[in-house]
Amino acid sequence: MIPIIRPVLGEAEIQAAAGPLRSGWVTQGPETAAFEAEFAALVGARHACAVSSCTTALHLALLAAGVGPGDEVITASHTFIATANAIRYCGAEPVFIDVEPGGFNLDPELIGATVSPRTKALVAVHQAGMPCDLSRVVAAAEKAGLVLIEDAACAVGSRIRWQGEWQRIGRPHGRAACFSFHPRKLLTTGDGGMITTNDPDWDRRFRLWRQHGMTVPDTARHAAREVIFEEYPDLGFNYRLTDIQAAVGRAQLKRLEEILGRRRELAARYFNLLAEIPGLGLPLEPEWARSNWQSFLVKLPEGADQKTVMQYLLDHGVASRRGIMNCHQERPYLGARGGDRLPNSEAARDKWIILPLFHQMTEAEQNRVAEVLGRACSMGLGGGR
Ligand SMILES: *Cc1c(COP(=O)(O)O)cnc(C)c1O
Repeated sequence: MIPIIRPVLGEAEIQAAAGPLRSGWVTQGPETAAFEAEFAALVGARHACAVSSCTTALHLALLAAGVGPGDEVITASHTFIATANAIRYCGAEPVFIDVEPGGFNLDPELIGATVSPRTKALVAVHQAGMPCDLSRVVAAAEKAGLVLIEDAACAVGSRIRWQGEWQRIGRPHGRAACFSFHPRKLLTTGDGGMITTNDPDWDRRFRLWRQHGMTVPDTARHAAREVIFEEYPDLGFNYRLTDIQAAVGRAQLKRLEEILGRRRELAARYFNLLAEIPGLGLPLEPEWARSNWQSFLVKLPEGADQKTVMQYLLDHGVASRRGIMNCHQERPYLGARGGDRLPNSEAARDKWIILPLFHQMTEAEQNRVAEVLGRACSMGLGGGR
């Protein structure tokens, strides 16, 4: 079976994980601090705070934005459900806007008209690793007075041209950007997340809240020559990353350039191979964006039934996934504001599929995916079969 993705893990990560196990400092400590510094330098952010997942990163960023009960937060429905769930954790409600036609990122045109007096923030997703149109998103958020948070779960290593200069996603253009290290993303620590921000006060609050609201971290008490009593001024959480995970994350960061290069090479190969399949739609990479191709999606030819094509692929040893989900079509968000005006999101879920693309993928495997997909599309595997 040719999988959708496979983590890139090896001797370097195994050795790295052994470090904290030998030293005995196994949770948030020196490895986490080093991972944060390296990540901040990589993306060009002033601060990076490691947490247990992107979901918890989003939760803390929304809390820092002051999102609470009765508030609304504008975001895409066409995203992993964690984006909307983090808004609910704050007691607020997501308001969904559609994605751009033929794309997977929210349509900045729709932001202004969706704002109500209750709207506090905007969560812009860089879906599947493809940067959203940040300059227009930032302008719309500023105009509407919304706090902008980037859901960059999938977008480590992706780049955007900003005022003529290529930058990594994660150099915040809103107040904070949130990343995931789940194995379905490019870099993994098993589970894990990171929040980048240029605001020292936001960073200070993330550090407080991720560790139970404790004013003096145990690393500081451990190192102190005097007795220190900590306080708990705020309601906090246990959203720590362990030092075992952080050590693995540091080894993963060293592989990023190589992983990005290989993924972009494989994506370019897909563009050539798949152009041969009549009626198949390919993803759009705007000239101001460089995707990390965390997911490679294709639009099935008109009339080809999604489930039938996917079953054919599965029967022939090729894994695939339906297009990215829509939150408004899942039970917790049925009836959410905006959910009745999302035609592009619904088409994106039902007409696109995700193809295998992983670092270790061989050209023979990629040829096989294209060949089987071509057959699935041409065999008239249409609707009513
Ligand atoms: C994966 C993902 C998340 C959740 O990340 P976790 O680290 O699993 O919590 C959030 N948003 C998007 C867009 C994602 O793809």
